[in-house]
Amino acid sequence: MEEHCAFCEIVRGEKSADILYQDESVVVFKDIRPHAPVHLLVVPRKHIRSMNDLTEGDKDVVFNMILKAKEMAREQSIARSGYRLVFNVERGGGQVIFHLHLHLLGGW
Ligand code: AMP
Ligand code: ZN
Repeated sequence: MEEHCAFCEIVRGEKSADILYQDESVVVFKDIRPHAPVHLLVVPRKHIRSMNDLTEGDKDVVFNMILKAKEMAREQSIARSGYRLVFNVERGGGQVIFHLHLHLLGGW
C-alpha cells in the first residue's frame, strides 16, 4: 500500500468511488471520466505501480483482474457486442494513475 495513491485510497475505502464489485483481490469501479458508454476500472488491492513492476508472484492478481473484467463485461451486457481491455503502461503509454489497473471499455 502507498499513502498518496488515489486508487489505494479507493481500495481502502478512504476515497469515494462508484464501486460495482469488490473481493479480497480486486475492486471494480466506474471511471470518473468515461471514454465509452461502459468504462470500468479493475483494480487490484495490492499496490503495483505498473505492468513494468509485475513479478511471478503476481500471477493470481493479474488472472483475477482479467477474469473479473470478463465477468463484468457479461454483467454489463457488453460481452456479446464486444469490448476492449486496456493496460496503459507508464507516461508514454498514457498512464496517469500509477497503481496497476485494467480498463474495460464497451457499449458503443
Ligand atoms: P490511466 O490513464 O490508465 O492511468 O487511467 C486512469 C483512469 O482513472 C482515467 O481514465 C481516469 O479518468 C480515472 N480516474 C482517476 N481518478 C479517479 C477516481 N477518483 N475515480 C474513478 N476513476 C478515476
Ligand atoms: Zn496504490
